[in-house]
Parts: sequence; C-alpha cells; structure tokens
Amino acid sequence: MEKTVKRFPVIDSADCSLCQGCVAVEPDVFYFDENSGRIVVRELAEYPLVQVDEAIKNCPRDCISWDIPEKMHLSGECTEEEILGIG
Ligand code: SF4
Repeated sequence: MEKTVKRFPVIDSADCSLCQGCVAVEPDVFYFDENSGRIVVRELAEYPLVQVDEAIKNCPRDCISWDIPEKMHLSGECTEEEILGIG
C-alpha cells in the first residue's frame, strides 16, 4: 500500500512554467486548471509521499514544496509520522 502523509504540496505559481511535468508524474494530485491557467493541487485528506516527492524532484523550476497546516502543529491532532511520513 502506498504511504500517504497529512502535509500537502504547494506550488509557487510565480515560478511555474506550466510544463505539466508534475501532472504527468501524479495526475491524482496535480492538474492544469483551464479557468485560472495555473497548475492546481487537488484537495485531498492525505497525499502520496513517493509520488509528490518525485514531482518535487523533477520540477524544472523547483516551485513545488511541502507545507504543513499550522493547526496540526498547534493542536497535536496528528503525529509527526502522519505529517511527515517518517518511521
Ligand atoms: S513541474 Fe513545476 S514548473 Fe512544471 S507545471 Fe509542475 S509545478 Fe509548474
């Protein structure tokens, strides 16, 4: 079973070249939104760790990164393993 995490990928649209490499790597997470003309991250409860790491590694503009909702830090509602996929 694939490992999922509760942190989420974000895209710096200012640097994105719209090459759609991330969409090719993981279309279940990234898609091109024709209305905004941007690459958008789908809203999921959890994200596949390996596939998103692969998209980050292959992004030619280095504009994808992981983020962690502030409330997860504050509330302690998630374990570090759930957020980071470690362990
Ligand atoms: S791989 Fe990077 S530069 Fe290419 S569309 Fe995705 S976020 Fe933009």
